[in-house]
Amino acid sequence: MQKSFDTILQQNSFTKVDLVRMLLAKGEEQDRLFAQAAKIRSQYVGNKVYLRGLIELSNHCRKNCLYCGIRRGNKQTDRYMLPDEAVLQACEFAYKNNFGSIVLQGGELTSKQYVSRIENLLMQIKKLSNNELGITLSLGEQSEETYRHWFEAGAHRYLLRIESSNCELYEKIHPRNIIHDYNRRVACLKLLQKTGYQVGTGVMIGLPFQMPNDLAQDLLFIQSMDIDMVGMGPYIEHKNTPLYQYKDLLLPIEERYWLSLRMVAVLRILTKDINIAAVTALQAIHPEGRNMAIQVGANVIMPNITPGDFRNIYKLYENKPTISQDDEDNIRVLVEQIKSTGNETVFGKWGDSLHFSNKHTI
Ligand code: SAH
Ligand code: SF4
Repeated sequence: MQKSFDTILQQNSFTKVDLVRMLLAKGEEQDRLFAQAAKIRSQYVGNKVYLRGLIELSNHCRKNCLYCGIRRGNKQTDRYMLPDEAVLQACEFAYKNNFGSIVLQGGELTSKQYVSRIENLLMQIKKLSNNELGITLSLGEQSEETYRHWFEAGAHRYLLRIESSNCELYEKIHPRNIIHDYNRRVACLKLLQKTGYQVGTGVMIGLPFQMPNDLAQDLLFIQSMDIDMVGMGPYIEHKNTPLYQYKDLLLPIEERYWLSLRMVAVLRILTKDINIAAVTALQAIHPEGRNMAIQVGANVIMPNITPGDFRNIYKLYENKPTISQDDEDNIRVLVEQIKSTGNETVFGKWGDSLHFSNKHTI
């Protein structure tokens, strides 16, 4: 006999078939899914939202991911690298506004000079904030040694999305060469865990060739890798990328939006105590996107604090919000919006993943 939807929602462990069923929920079933995710979120991580100021360090990248607007092969974009002063100024802004943490994100670069520059920057950020700002990095695949240097210099969380846990799909959305290797990406996640970071991963939702089964598999991958934090959101096509040719195969953008929200909800129900980010790509589709994600299980928000002149050039996808909607005056608005979702914004805390501390106290 087929299980009822409500029976599935109440379970403690889930098969891939259960996950697909939840991911495809519509109408009233979708409402019940969202309500269950909100309940679990409040039970396990509380009605709190943590802030990380997002600094987009650079759009130079050595890679050529077929979906990404800042891929090396895109000659139609200006390239920039934030000078140290601009990074430090953004960190001061985050510190002064009591954000608790920052995220330093950028294209993948691996030169010796770059690695030691990041190391120095990390130490300076720690110093200017009296060791108080928590630092998350999202700077791609690096050697074990680099990960260790950066950890020792003060970073304690790292985001590296698997993009898709289906190796075949991964290969369809990346060039087939040694620097775009699926196994290497998984190995990096393990290296990061070994080094001591709280590790985040995630996927793009609504990619061409992606099936509901793949997304269910992605959720199980996140669970089986014992991941501490997740940032995942809709794939948004960019016209100067090779993947754009498949735009007619994509789900309509609104469908991708709701599917992404269901992914967040199902992930919360599945993994319970991890940190989940309400990502900017949702906001690119719908002005209420991030708030909706918070309502259905996300508990982290990453306001963009990249200095204004640069943030317009960091275009991973099209329609990326570029107005300076996250600056000082707007923090109050953000807090109000979060409040309207029934949640409280937490200031001055790192807001580490409970999953990470739970697994280290057992
Ligand atoms: N270079 C680093 C971090 C910057 S890219 C890395 O790749 O890990 C950060 C994320 O942007 C990627 O992981 C990818 O999931 C997302 N991204 C890139 N292009 C995108 C697109 N067209 N639509 C949605 N997300 C995209
Ligand atoms: Fe570079 Fe990251 Fe974009 Fe890939 S997704 S091209 S690694 S910035």
